[in-house]
Amino acid sequence: MVKVFFALLFVGDPTSAPSAIAITISPLESAYFQSGQITVRGSFRYVDRNATDQPARFVRVLLYDADVNSVDDLLGETTTDQNGIFQFASLPNQDNDEPGSTLDIYLIWVAEFNDSAAAQRRVADLGGNVYRWRSEIRHNVANGEHIFNNQVPNNQRPAMWIFQDLRRSWEYVRNNVNIDSGSITARWADNVDCWLICASYFYGGVGGPYIFISTQHQNSADVVVHEAAHHYLYNRANWWVLDVNCFNHQIFGQVNSESCAWSEGWADFLPLLVNDDVCFDWGRGPCGAGGGAFENLEDRSRNDMPPAFPWGDRVEGRIAGALYDFFDNNNEGFDSAIFGFGPIAAIVLDAQPEDSFFTFWRRWQASSNNRHNALRALYQNTIDYNTSPRFDPLLPNLVALRGVAWPRALDLWSYAVDDDSADSELRFQLVSVSDNRCGVTLTENRWIDLTPQANWLGVCDVTVRASDTIASVDDTFRVTVAPIVALNYLPAVIKPDVAAGGSH
Ligand SMILES: [Zn+2]
Repeated sequence: MVKVFFALLFVGDPTSAPSAIAITISPLESAYFQSGQITVRGSFRYVDRNATDQPARFVRVLLYDADVNSVDDLLGETTTDQNGIFQFASLPNQDNDEPGSTLDIYLIWVAEFNDSAAAQRRVADLGGNVYRWRSEIRHNVANGEHIFNNQVPNNQRPAMWIFQDLRRSWEYVRNNVNIDSGSITARWADNVDCWLICASYFYGGVGGPYIFISTQHQNSADVVVHEAAHHYLYNRANWWVLDVNCFNHQIFGQVNSESCAWSEGWADFLPLLVNDDVCFDWGRGPCGAGGGAFENLEDRSRNDMPPAFPWGDRVEGRIAGALYDFFDNNNEGFDSAIFGFGPIAAIVLDAQPEDSFFTFWRRWQASSNNRHNALRALYQNTIDYNTSPRFDPLLPNLVALRGVAWPRALDLWSYAVDDDSADSELRFQLVSVSDNRCGVTLTENRWIDLTPQANWLGVCDVTVRASDTIASVDDTFRVTVAPIVALNYLPAVIKPDVAAGGSH
């Protein structure tokens, strides 16, 4: 059936009666007005790694009219929303290639989406062709609503898994630190473990940038976000590592170059946040669920010894563990850091690249972030960037009066210095007092108080320790308890004219 719409246009004239205006209708408009309308909507879904049905969020959807004798016409373009739902604007149900006939419609869902004006996300095959999934064709459709509820085909589900991982990763960074991590292209193909090399990787050279996800890792959202994390450094700071020795890196059990360890450590860290568990999983996860290797970064500490768990800032797992301890509020051992992601991202994801973890640390030191707790989190993960506190100037010797208490005789905060810890973050301790009759005490982690025993005279040597809780320094000063023999032990202030007996 063909519905006919008549349009009459009147131009009002306030001083006279309305008059009809003749309208000339072109053949195209004629087709429009004489056809009915169709509305196309529906949902697009996929089965996730856990065999659960999920909406395919933020996917491009194209609406076509299939033509026999010419190229199919693109009728409209939209995207799925966060629930995998899409709807096209209504359009005339007129097949221009078959006069008098209605449309032959089908949809294509494309693994491509503009997350922002500056960030396009795609999953492509090894030839660089973005994955496209086509619906059935519905021929000569009736006017009215047409609903397509389709799914990603079984053998291409991993492309959608990767596509969704990349969206979650982009969202995590944007939502938490308001940084746009930029465009990303992933390459994946069914049953391809090796492409150039037998690994998943980021490539930023000629023909790139892109990430390749090997089928051996297609079950691992952590591997996908790991490669994305490399891509983010490339996007934000134009930095990536092309180092053959870095291709075969391991999270532990290997000491790498500083730049390799930093690049990989950062990329091991970000997936823990995006995928919200503390294990890096090479399988489905979390923490080995469903089989597959994993590493729990919170479990690693100074108790883990080489050669199984090497130490220091050229071990990517140590860097990832340190960054995670910066981030989380679950503190163990030396870790007392609760920084969240913001201060980390502000350094890593700005335009200035870091070529090593120590460079990251130098920028952290130069920031307004707390350094004392950061050093402790590093130390917990076997990375020791700490410098010892010192006494500068050295503690002075004291003279106390027999039987006279002298509270707050020394302010230790005026003598102890540390490059990365505030005075209040240092820990003071009386290591030894050679004679207890001096009555030396240390109070409020700050003051040396003297309460010499009544009637006692003599000297004692007092050793005080200042610790930044990782390293410490000792200094010894002498207390002399002297008799009150005369006022001349005190500074004499005598007015000359009084002393001379003069008058004025
Ligand atoms: Zn990597």
